[in-house]
Amino acid sequence: MAGHPPKPPKQPTETPKKQWSMADFEIGKPLGKGKFGRVYLAREIKSKYIVALKVIFKEQIEKYKLQHQLRREMEIQTSLRHPNVLRLYGWFHDSDRIFFILEYAHGGELYKELRKTGHFSESQAATYIASLAQALAYCHEKNVIHRDIKPENLLLDHEGRLKIADFGWSVQSKTKRHTMCGTLDYLAPEMVENKAHDYAVDNWTLGILCYEFLFGAPPFEAESQSDTFRRIMKVDLSFPSTPVVSTEATTLISQLLVKDSSKRLSLQKIMKHPWIVKYADPTSICSK
Ligand code: ATP
Ligand code: MG
Repeated sequence: MAGHPPKPPKQPTETPKKQWSMADFEIGKPLGKGKFGRVYLAREIKSKYIVALKVIFKEQIEKYKLQHQLRREMEIQTSLRHPNVLRLYGWFHDSDRIFFILEYAHGGELYKELRKTGHFSESQAATYIASLAQALAYCHEKNVIHRDIKPENLLLDHEGRLKIADFGWSVQSKTKRHTMCGTLDYLAPEMVENKAHDYAVDNWTLGILCYEFLFGAPPFEAESQSDTFRRIMKVDLSFPSTPVVSTEATTLISQLLVKDSSKRLSLQKIMKHPWIVKYADPTSICSK
């Protein structure tokens, strides 16, 4: 890894100074595949800077009428600068594809780490939750609600630092997508019901993730989508007897998984929560 990152535009709506094209990059191994695109390791030839290049076919975007959301979300992510938010350095397109120049997350998906080990230690989990809370506080300050926080969208860099990725989709398309692929597990009650929702949806998700980090599976998992739906609506929460976790942890989870969104613990209070204070590694949490 060497050189400087491709220069991002100063303003999200400003045309990037440099018009990137495929000729600027050497393409390496595939890093992953998503619903709309493929991601490759790539190197900007001039600076030798390593990035991840996400390729999306325009046809797909047009088919699902996602052009506007895509552009809006691209602009949002370009404007976000936080150590726990994956950078989008820029984008370009050719006749049939759109390319995103992304920060490379060498550690890959957090999800894979979780599956490998089954569950995280309290200090690991608290460090991730604190990193997420900091990143979300920053996003909320900028009026950005992620709404799609889930382990697959959390990546790790070479030092194991958490990076929120995938700012790609709006509420509407996401709700549709969740219904289509049957993943209700991370959705707050007000989203499951398609009610109006605000920043507190991300706080709910933090509670879900905290549970999953510690116990290895999300709290409202069920055989069928309708059962998950019912469990979310009832906030049917219980804690397994193993692994044994501290009461501070289960208290925090219970304070986040609250049906009334106005009563959920705020991001600021999460940062000061005894569990975070006791277990999170302060050296790997960055406030900005
Ligand atoms: P969406 O979740 O919006 O449908 P997607 O799933 O199509 O998007 P991504 O989630 O961005 O696409 O990427 C797919 C996979 O590629 C990720 O799950 C991850 O494994 C890998 N990947 C994506 N971006 C990076 C990156 N910057 N560094 C390393 N790996 C990445
Ligand atoms: Mg994804």
